[in-house]
Amino acid sequence: MNDASGHAGGCRCGAVRFEATADPHHVSYCHCADCRRATGAPVAAFVGFMAADTSIEGEDLRRFDNGPVTRSFCGVCGSPISYIDARIGDRVYFLLGVMDQPARYRPTLHAHVREQLPFVHMPDGLPRHVKTSVPRPEETSS
Ligand SMILES: [Zn+2]
Ligand SMILES: [Zn+2]
Repeated sequence: MNDASGHAGGCRCGAVRFEATADPHHVSYCHCADCRRATGAPVAAFVGFMAADTSIEGEDLRRFDNGPVTRSFCGVCGSPISYIDARIGDRVYFLLGVMDQPARYRPTLHAHVREQLPFVHMPDGLPRHVKTSVPRPEETSS
């Protein structure tokens, strides 16, 4: 239960549970409009793990595809669970807020700050990426 080596989380009704057996490789804020819609919050935050280290349980897990991006959520209570991009499909990004111990995951950067809402101020001194912080292999420089 208090195993600090594991990283578990789940939706708020308990129908969906997930865990990772290795430490995350990425913790970030995302200010993009798609994350805003998906979460309903002015800024989203993610904890990224290698997919091979993760497992998800729950028959009620639902998925929504938008181009190469698949977001999952609980079909019962609606909690957003994860973000997967097929172009970097070996990684899974869980919403920081559905981790069981969210305070363990201090974000290290902001992504897509070009889309940041004008009244959101987070003077934390972290690196701020205009677009994505994780390059996609076939993404062009345009
Ligand atoms: Zn749920
Ligand atoms: Zn985003």
